[in-house]
Amino acid sequence: MRRRIDDMPENLNSCPFCHSNSVHRIWDGPRWDYCQECGLYFRNPMPTQQELDTLYESSWTDPEQCTSETGGTSLALARVYANRLLRALGLSSFQGLRILDFGAGRGNMLKALQELGAEVVGVETYGKVYLESQGFEGYEQLSEVVGRFDGIVTIDVVEHLHSPWDTLKTLNVLLKEKGWLYVATGNPLGLNARVNGSNWREAKKAGHLVFPSPRTLEKMLLEAGFLKVERLKWLIRFHRNPVRIILNYGMQMLGVDGELRYLGWK
Ligand SMILES: [Zn+2]
Repeated sequence: MRRRIDDMPENLNSCPFCHSNSVHRIWDGPRWDYCQECGLYFRNPMPTQQELDTLYESSWTDPEQCTSETGGTSLALARVYANRLLRALGLSSFQGLRILDFGAGRGNMLKALQELGAEVVGVETYGKVYLESQGFEGYEQLSEVVGRFDGIVTIDVVEHLHSPWDTLKTLNVLLKEKGWLYVATGNPLGLNARVNGSNWREAKKAGHLVFPSPRTLEKMLLEAGFLKVERLKWLIRFHRNPVRIILNYGMQMLGVDGELRYLGWK
């Protein structure tokens, strides 16, 4: 979400979420800090909004190539996620439900949800025109969206925001009573992050600003007004190689795979 902050990067001496001073450098190149109080990992200094605008505007001139910024979820994977989401919600279809995808990227999740019956709306700050070219109702900003939703999905978006805790509050307001939010983001306590440290691929990406630990994300969701929060541990096959499938299933079961997934209910 576009938010004006100072044009010069500024070093933070405290956690941008919980304001604790118990923060220390954890990864280098670029520098990331860790808050012992709430478990947030954050870029320090964070890139300015101007730097991010430049990054995204340039990526969206070639959306199929720059998927770190324009959305890396393939349609095949989006279909798997949409089906898992149905199951997690105890539903047989999304028929009659109005669902918002915040950070809809190139629209693959919108398509997968639509195939299962949902009426879909996408918000993509830099890719609104692209979404419209795919035939979707698209907006640049959450503030432009009209009406309320039965469900909201936001996949690999939280890590791109300066203050996702504020955005989660806005998303909560956009939900109908008893509506649900599905949020997925990179897992800084995953095996990949722990083994690779500063070289963790996700920490190197220019657009990534924060990674909440599971306890941070739970706290953010509860403070944003969600009444019930549930971590989802989905077993998802990303590879064809049987050894990698088994390794990945093991990590997913233990919750140390690359993705944190949560459902929050209003
Ligand atoms: Zn904190």
